[in-house]
Amino acid sequence: MMHYDAIIVGAGPAGSTAARALAQGGARVCLVDKARFPRSKPCGGALSPRTLRHLPPGVDSVVRARVRRAVFTFRSGKPFEVVSRDPMGYMVCREEFDAWLKAHAEQAGASVREGAAVRAIEETKTGFAVRVSGGAISSDTIVGADGVNSRVAAQLLPARPRARYLALEFEVPQNGHDLGETVIVDVGAYPGGYAWGFPKGDRVNVGAMVEYARGRQLRRTLDAFVAGQPSLPAIPSLGCRAAAVAAAQSAPVPCARPGVLLVGDAAHLTDPFLGEGIYSAVRSGALAARALLQGKHRIETAVHYAGLVESQLWPDLVAASRVASLFHRMPRWWHHLMSLMPGSLSEVVGVLSGDQTYAGLLREIVERLEAGAGRWVRRRLGVRPDGTAAARRG
Ligand SMILES: Cc1cc2nc3c(=O)[nH]c(=O)nc-3n(C[C@H](O)[C@H](O)[C@H](O)COP(=O)(O)OP(=O)(O)OC[C@H]3O[C@@H](n4cnc5c(N)ncnc54)[C@H](O)[C@@H]3O)c2cc1C
Repeated sequence: MMHYDAIIVGAGPAGSTAARALAQGGARVCLVDKARFPRSKPCGGALSPRTLRHLPPGVDSVVRARVRRAVFTFRSGKPFEVVSRDPMGYMVCREEFDAWLKAHAEQAGASVREGAAVRAIEETKTGFAVRVSGGAISSDTIVGADGVNSRVAAQLLPARPRARYLALEFEVPQNGHDLGETVIVDVGAYPGGYAWGFPKGDRVNVGAMVEYARGRQLRRTLDAFVAGQPSLPAIPSLGCRAAAVAAAQSAPVPCARPGVLLVGDAAHLTDPFLGEGIYSAVRSGALAARALLQGKHRIETAVHYAGLVESQLWPDLVAASRVASLFHRMPRWWHHLMSLMPGSLSEVVGVLSGDQTYAGLLREIVERLEAGAGRWVRRRLGVRPDGTAAARRG
């Protein structure tokens, strides 16, 4: 049986990033995926600018569109827009992006097995024996990068929270509906989420995300969104791709134990406000590799990795969860407020570019609300900012 330092289950962004970094660090690593690449994956394929900083060079070869304009609507009405000189996002098709990342892992020296579904994982005295279609392999460590329905997590770190959202998307030919550099984001009809139209060169990605429990109405809601947006192409009645979104709740989810590290969706690291998961997938993949390369034994590695994820990713995910709760309680109100001050969205753009954090954004929102509420109360009571009473007329 072939033995490795680490077996990584899943060659999505999290697994391929971990495999690349481990191989570059000199580890013997095997990256296994049940799919053969290129393979598609339900996803909007939007990369934030901050994600690009953590990718290998040359991502331009798989970027299909750069986003410089965002149009926001409320139930397909009341549009307002935000324009930016620098791209707010980079659009990829997942079959192209994931194949590109996996190729980088291979070039770095990772051994890759495609079409190799993990069928069974057995713990041995020193590590793991893994049965994949086509044979068995063993390792000291197993990295669960197998997505939202992670088999590795279910077996080795069970008692996971349920997925927070359900999302549905179509990637269709643009058919004369070229969105160019524009994304469309609609709110109001999607409890906990939103609907989008993303440009992809000769394709358009159309989708919506809602709280998991509201998933049954999702297809109908998406049809209504597309019908209300003349700039979007029609979507077929069949062929949508739906998947759960492993968005963070308000408390960290365990992601490590001796010999087992979970990364990306398997560790529930998707941003609960925008549903952005590729950033955390790539970051956690790199952090897992760092902990493995530096760790002297399995306990130390697990503690180190859990600490890195908790300190570098969770504070912002928890803040994003609060922002999501604030927004989704009153989407009409927020949409109206932002339409009056579209500049305030630069803070959200700042989070995507990495210049701002969700924690900073939350602080900003609270301070502005406090200031606004303070002004309102003072006006009602006739009190000046220094606390003195203003003379009342009449
Ligand atoms: C509809 C939708 C839209 C989204 N839009 C965006 C977006 O625009 N931007 C963004 O950043 N995020 C988006 N996300 C989230 C994003 O898709 C995920 O967060 C991201 O793909 C997580 O990467 P990952 O590597 O952890 O897992 P995945 O990308 O899911 O990769 C997991 C891999 O594991 C393999 N695998 C699974 N089980 C096994 C097994 N038993 N044996 C072997 N291999 C296995 C799978 O084949 C797959 O290749 C969206 C999600 C959904 C559902």
